[in-house]
Amino acid sequence: MSENADFVPLLLDWFAQNRRDLPWRRTYDPYGVWVSEVMAQQTQMDRVAVYFERFTARFPTVAALAEADETEVLKAWEGLGYYSRARNLLAAARRVMAEHGGRLPADFAALRALPGVGEYTAGAVAAIAFGRDEVAVDANVLRVLARVCDIDAPIKEPAGKAQATTLARELLPPGRARDYGEALMEFGALVCRPRTPDCPACPLAGHCAARRLNIVPDRPVLSKSKDITPLDVATGVLVHAGRIFIQKRLPKGAWANLWEFPGGRIEAGETPEQAVVREFAEETGFATRVETKLAVIRHGYTTYRVTLHCCLLRLTDLPEAAPPPEPTLTAAQESLWAAPDELSRYAFPAGHRKLIEQFGESLRRPGEARPLLDLSAGGDDPPRTPSTGKV
Ligand code: SF4
Repeated sequence: MSENADFVPLLLDWFAQNRRDLPWRRTYDPYGVWVSEVMAQQTQMDRVAVYFERFTARFPTVAALAEADETEVLKAWEGLGYYSRARNLLAAARRVMAEHGGRLPADFAALRALPGVGEYTAGAVAAIAFGRDEVAVDANVLRVLARVCDIDAPIKEPAGKAQATTLARELLPPGRARDYGEALMEFGALVCRPRTPDCPACPLAGHCAARRLNIVPDRPVLSKSKDITPLDVATGVLVHAGRIFIQKRLPKGAWANLWEFPGGRIEAGETPEQAVVREFAEETGFATRVETKLAVIRHGYTTYRVTLHCCLLRLTDLPEAAPPPEPTLTAAQESLWAAPDELSRYAFPAGHRKLIEQFGESLRRPGEARPLLDLSAGGDDPPRTPSTGKV
């Protein structure tokens, strides 16, 4: 047992008095715990609570989720980003129906075998939903343990993570896995925060090695930061006869099955306007011209900094009164000409959704002047395939 074990009762006391009232904590229904844990990866808890209520109102049980089609699930997930999580939830729900009689298994190994369920999620669901003596080690837990127990290995690398996981297991009070796991995460989120730990008011201060050694700013030890690559991309909102062209991305790769406005990476020597016209020709066969530039949307990912230039486009060789033409698709599985009011039915990447939200009204009246906006988009997939340049 670690010499730091004394802090655990204090941590549990703190949690008993400070735990947030989050919707899945009212019943600890395993399905709700599972959905919340999947949502909480990459997303702040306050936002998770809002999305959780909406998602579980639409899909209240494993069975309801398993019966949904992917389009509905992606739409309910829109705004949370990292859409592979939603696809895996759906696949796992169907597996639970087929192999576990519609009830999530309590056993760590059985949970771990479900699509998209890694060590963290399996540990969290086993501990929090079923009270099994398992641990779930997320970034909050890593940080708290690195500080309280003075872990001096880079915390996100295998050796540091293994050290923290071993410690978390050693410190787990048998039978208290739910409270212990939630308390560590909650404490990391609310008190032992990444850049602003509240050491003066911390109930664990007397047991914290980093505090005692005056090395809190040096814990956890971080890996060398990766270089950030700037990426300039262009996208076009093509309007014709009062309708807007959108296409559904291919079923594999980045943002699979999401809808988008066509576009892509700006090549060396190109302006954004030239790039979007070229991309449209390559992806749809349409000849277009830029009527105006709508917005510049910026978004940061782990290793990329994306600047998305958004343009309003018109067809060059078709009168406005002519019916919308059929595209020749090369980068999408289907397309349609949507009325502006219909765009809300489809799931888009965050940058494109932001564009729709900002320009929803003016896209209904595309002849009017629009300001050029500079926006930041939040919560979306990283560009796993940077050459696609979608944000
Ligand atoms: S004393 Fe500071 S660094 Fe140590 S556990 Fe408390 S908040 Fe974290």
